[in-house]
Amino acid sequence: MNLNNYYSRQLRLPEVGAEGQLRLSHARCLVVGAGGLGSAALPYLAAAGIGTVGICDGDCLDVSNLHRQPIYSAADIGTLKAELAAKRMRELNPMIKANVHPVFLNANNAFLLFSSYDLILDCTDNFKTKFLINDAAYLAKKPVVRASIYQFEGQLQTYLPERKDACLRCMWQKVPEEGCVGTCQEVGVLGSIPGFFGVLQANEAIKFFLGLPVLQSNQLLFSDLIHYTQQSITLERNEHCPLCGTHPSISSLSDRYSWEITPAELDESFTLIDIREKEEVKNDPYLNGPYLHLPMSCFDLAQLDSSTKYALFCQRGRRSASVVSALYKERANVFSILGGIEALR
Ligand SMILES: [Zn+2]
Repeated sequence: MNLNNYYSRQLRLPEVGAEGQLRLSHARCLVVGAGGLGSAALPYLAAAGIGTVGICDGDCLDVSNLHRQPIYSAADIGTLKAELAAKRMRELNPMIKANVHPVFLNANNAFLLFSSYDLILDCTDNFKTKFLINDAAYLAKKPVVRASIYQFEGQLQTYLPERKDACLRCMWQKVPEEGCVGTCQEVGVLGSIPGFFGVLQANEAIKFFLGLPVLQSNQLLFSDLIHYTQQSITLERNEHCPLCGTHPSISSLSDRYSWEITPAELDESFTLIDIREKEEVKNDPYLNGPYLHLPMSCFDLAQLDSSTKYALFCQRGRRSASVVSALYKERANVFSILGGIEALR
C-alpha cells in the first residue's frame, strides 16, 4: 500500500503545507459520542491526518442508529460503536492512531480521558454529558467544539479556555432536565442534520490544529437547514456563573441528577421497584431482597403513594432514569438506581 500521496490535495493549500500536515500528525482529538455527530466528524478528522483520534462511547450499535450514522454497517448491530468506529478510521487512514474508549464519559473517568488529548469534540446528545464535558473542560483547561441539533436545526460553539469564553453554566446554572428539549429518539431527526453539524465540528477541529481562525469567542452559530438561514448569537460570560464566575461553587465533577441514587446509598427506607418487562424478570429475577414489579410499559404514578421513597431499577439504569426524570417535577420521592440491576448485584 503506497500512501505517499494521501494528503496531496490538502498539502497544496498554503494554509496546510508540510508544516501544517506535521502539526496535524501531532494533534490529539477526543470525540465524545460516536453517534450522528461523531460518525460525521470522525472520517474527516482521520482522513485529514489528525495523528491521534480518541473515540469515547459505551453504546452498542442499534439498528435505529444506521440512518444517521453511516460509518457503521447493518452487519455490525450489537457491537460496541467505539470499536467499530476506530476500526473504520484505521481502514480509512492507516497512518493515524485511533484509540478506543468503550465507556460512557462520567465524573470518574473524564479528567483521565481528557488528559491524553488537546481538543474535545462534544458529539453527545444529552444535557448531563454536555455539562460534564463543559465542567471538565473548564477545570482541566481543554478546548471544546460543541454541537447540538434539534429536528432541522442545530448550533455550534468553539470554546477556548485561553479566550475566557462563556461556558454552558454561564447560561444555565443547573443541568436542564432531560426531556425539556426532545431528543432524536423522541422528536425524530433526519440523518443529514447531525451529519452537517458533525462535519462542521471536524472543520473547526482541523482549523484549530492548523492555527486558522475558528468561531469567534462567545459566538454561537445557529443554522436552520430547512430554509438555510444562519444566525450568530453572542454569548456572555456571567460573573455569577457557578463554574467560571468570580465566586465559583463547582470545583469538582458530578454527573448525577438529584433523583439518581447509587446502590450504596440505598437503605431500608426505600421501596425497590423493578420496572423491567415480565419476560426479563422471569429470565433474570432480582433475588437479593424484597421489591415490587411494575413494568415500564404499564407504569402509572397513581400506583405509588406519596409518603414512601421509591427506588426504581431496570437492567442498566437507562429506562428507570427516563421514567424518573419525567416524573421528577411531580414526585420528589421517586429515584432511579444508577447502573440498574447490574450495579445492584
Ligand atoms: Zn461559566
